[in-house]
Amino acid sequence: MRIGVLALQGAFIEHEQMLSALGAESFEIRQSLDLEKRFDGLIIPGGESTVQGKLLRELGLFGPLKKLIEDGLPVFGTCAGLILLAKEIDGENAHFATMDIKVIRNAYGRQLGSFFTEADFGDVGKVPMTFIRAPYISEVFGKAKPLAVVYGKTVAARQDNQLVTAFHPELTNDTKIHEYFLKMCYKN
Ligand code: GLN
Repeated sequence: MRIGVLALQGAFIEHEQMLSALGAESFEIRQSLDLEKRFDGLIIPGGESTVQGKLLRELGLFGPLKKLIEDGLPVFGTCAGLILLAKEIDGENAHFATMDIKVIRNAYGRQLGSFFTEADFGDVGKVPMTFIRAPYISEVFGKAKPLAVVYGKTVAARQDNQLVTAFHPELTNDTKIHEYFLKMCYKN
């Protein structure tokens, strides 16, 4: 099992540490040459979606990664990663646009810019959730299904091989969501 972690910007090292704690191999994707390696899943980390979107295009990674995702490579997007996968972004152009969700960026305003909570995640049970200037999912349509709801807003969803969370499971000690993603990669 080997997971490619997009390592252009943001919290990618924390994902690598999480994967290694679970015994999964990972490597960093920084340039198109890195895509020649064989890998079973892709993680798009949190950070700044506009910066990552720009770098993905400049480095020639955008087209090849979009094709891999469309062809069924399991992908897990956290926070900015969720924004990059969404078909619709409120008031902005979409990026990969592979997932049937609409998102609102920086959606919790100043008071709740960053916060921590615990909530149910699919059939996994309660998980800790760290939100940092997070988006939320304002619409889930087509083939996407909501997986977690916080303060009445959808904060995690899945569509076939695509998993997204508005929060950062890699910034907690709880490995359940990464285990959930690795199961998606095994099944593929
Ligand atoms: N605010 C960031 C964005 O809109 C996402 C924040 C994060 O990834 N923690 O891209």
